[in-house]
Amino acid sequence: MLKRFFDPILILFVFSLAILVCAVFLFPNITNAFTDKDNAFSYLEEQMSFGPRTPGSEAHEKFLNWVTQKLSAQGWDVDLQKGNYKGHEITNVIASRQNLVADPDAEWIILGAHYDSRLSADADSVSANQTQPVPGANDGASGVAILLELAERLPKESDKNIWLVFFDGEDQGNIAGWEEWCIGSKMMAQYLEKQDRRPDKVVVIDMVGDKDLQIFREKNSDKALTDEIWSTTEKEGLSNIFQDKEKYSIYDDHIPFLKIGIPAVDLIDFDYPAWHTLADDIQNVSSDSLAAVEQVLYAWLTKK
Ligand SMILES: [Zn+2]
Repeated sequence: MLKRFFDPILILFVFSLAILVCAVFLFPNITNAFTDKDNAFSYLEEQMSFGPRTPGSEAHEKFLNWVTQKLSAQGWDVDLQKGNYKGHEITNVIASRQNLVADPDAEWIILGAHYDSRLSADADSVSANQTQPVPGANDGASGVAILLELAERLPKESDKNIWLVFFDGEDQGNIAGWEEWCIGSKMMAQYLEKQDRRPDKVVVIDMVGDKDLQIFREKNSDKALTDEIWSTTEKEGLSNIFQDKEKYSIYDDHIPFLKIGIPAVDLIDFDYPAWHTLADDIQNVSSDSLAAVEQVLYAWLTKK
């Protein structure tokens, strides 16, 4: 009988089981059944295939057609909010499912990300590169990829009124003919300010695809809403990525909403050496990072 305990197949089985158990404890997000990392990453790759989505470019136009088609196919109502800034056409994309939320007082949440790429890689150390557009794998495409993955994964029936908003004109500040940052989100906040009913919460995601992802509490963000999200990150076992301390003050698409009194948060990893350089390309982003941020937002939106 004793001999059976040393059966090589049994030993192999026990050893494999031990490895699996360790993997689940060490990497809790691999148990995340709803996140298809490759699918989210494919949304990033598709955006990159258009080229930099700079305002006025063909890639920008292609992006608008593509995102509208994707969201409509996933059953979302799509509205384009158009405006003009110093002669530049600005287009925000708004995806909603208002018709599915029966309660008119349901909590209204905006999840937003900018989709435009910066016209000038002015932080690049090579001066000839500074007149080139930023590829925007992390700065632009990462947030959009997560919103599209959520568009696909979120349950159709929800007790919340969720808007997925793709902002234009976030990333052109300090460029001749532009001057300001966050044009699209300012345009949306101006619209909302005139409405009787306004969103209850706004969460902006930007630069969330860094291979070495670490997101700190952003100092301008609403404290209570930040606490709410950080408590989700803890429950999801992602405190290694979502660091429980403040680091930067960022002027991002959450600011225009804070200015009109709507609690808003910016989830951003600003420790990204490729920021506003030609190196902000696909080799510096990872599908694991996209999956972690998506996991937190999904849990926050769906858990009671
Ligand atoms: Zn940027």
